Amino acid sequence: MRFKTVIGLEIHVQLSTKTKAFCSCPADVFEMPANTAICPVCTGQPGALPVVNAEMVDYAIKLALALNCKVNEYSRFDRKNYFYPDLPKGYQISQYFYPLAVEGYLDIDVDGTTKRVRIRRLHLEEDAGKLMHEGDSITQAKYSLVDMNRCGVPLVEIVTEPDLSSPREARIFTEKLRSILRYLKISSGDMEKGALRCDANISVVDVEKKVSSNRVEVKNMNSFKFIEKALEYEEQRIKEALVRGENVEKETRGWDLSTKTTVSMRGKEEESDYRYFPEPDIPPVVVSRERIERLRFSLPELPDQKKQRFVQDYGLPEYDASVLTADEWIANFFEVCVELTKKPKETSNWIMTEMLREMKEFESEELKIKPEHIAELIRLVDRGEISIKTAKEIFPEMFRTGKMPGRIVEEKGLKQLSDEHTITEIAKKILEQNPHVVDQYRSGKTNVISFFVGQVMKQTRGTANPKIVNEVLRRLLER
Ligand SMILES: [Zn+2]
Repeated sequence: MRFKTVIGLEIHVQLSTKTKAFCSCPADVFEMPANTAICPVCTGQPGALPVVNAEMVDYAIKLALALNCKVNEYSRFDRKNYFYPDLPKGYQISQYFYPLAVEGYLDIDVDGTTKRVRIRRLHLEEDAGKLMHEGDSITQAKYSLVDMNRCGVPLVEIVTEPDLSSPREARIFTEKLRSILRYLKISSGDMEKGALRCDANISVVDVEKKVSSNRVEVKNMNSFKFIEKALEYEEQRIKEALVRGENVEKETRGWDLSTKTTVSMRGKEEESDYRYFPEPDIPPVVVSRERIERLRFSLPELPDQKKQRFVQDYGLPEYDASVLTADEWIANFFEVCVELTKKPKETSNWIMTEMLREMKEFESEELKIKPEHIAELIRLVDRGEISIKTAKEIFPEMFRTGKMPGRIVEEKGLKQLSDEHTITEIAKKILEQNPHVVDQYRSGKTNVISFFVGQVMKQTRGTANPKIVNEVLRRLLER
């Protein structure tokens, strides 16, 4: 282990409040026509005064509490000064000197062990607008165009300590964060819509030579997969430089999807470049202990708590519990199923394998499957009316059409054949047709029984009860 990778994340979360951070324009602007959700405040007109959105502060406090942060009763907004065409004010309102919350942590599960990732700070800020450059594929723009709709949309920025030691851990952390956002119902967490944006700082330490590389900032990783891919690429690039006895530039690089590499964007800004100073138009944010405690009390059961309860109450393995609780809808679906089946492990198996696979494949479609489907399927298997194999075969149809499994079995004639007499008749015929194989069995090569099992299954289109087929064949062969 010559190299040690050090990664810290800066994550921006778009809050799903009704209105923007400092004005009454709608905050959900994703599908709105350009420049239709704007006002003098969010476009920075002279004399317009921002007012803090209380819902935004509540959402951010909830997230801070879910991430085990210390919520500051006193925080304040500051101006981060820089010029860019999508920032009409010439500064962004953020929290620099006194953030809303500090010193939290999030535990992530890495290959069965728990890793604690510390959170340095969590603060509020506003989003900037959007630029569409000349030749943009959607707008066919002949000039650069600016859409101010996103100006002033509320964001929470979460900064971790550099506690992550692999690209995979960075991905797991971000996925877990999204799960929490969705449980809290404070953000869609959709990376492809920009509601969750992840930037990373990465450096590599050469443990043998006791030197550390410069820190590189990686941006534009707009999916969980790309977080891992981009950081893997960057990790490798830095290691190769260290092996050559060189160092990498301290800079900001972006993930380029077309070349699957990172490319240099600009030298990294220093914080002093932004000339932060207190926002004079907004009074400090003072939140009382009572308000914080009321919000703490309103938190739903979060993924980790739910996972513990699933292990304790249902006797599920930790792995099952974490898969099922990663998504609140799945967790609820599971609990309703178990009410009906009273069989937690079997229910979990069907949901974790067949159902999640189907859901992945038909992501965008409306789900027709209900807990009753899973319950009836398990009942049919338990009663020996269908085999596990048949159950797996009809699962996709049940999932896609919403037909009850009993009906599919009936329509397709897939009912399990458990009648010993019928199976014996079929088996006898097969034995008669293959006398030499029967001889092989009787002279000690008992494993040829699988040949006969296969033949019976073929003749019964897989509906014969395998347990009975084996018993019948053994009895016939050993007499
Ligand atoms: Zn506005």
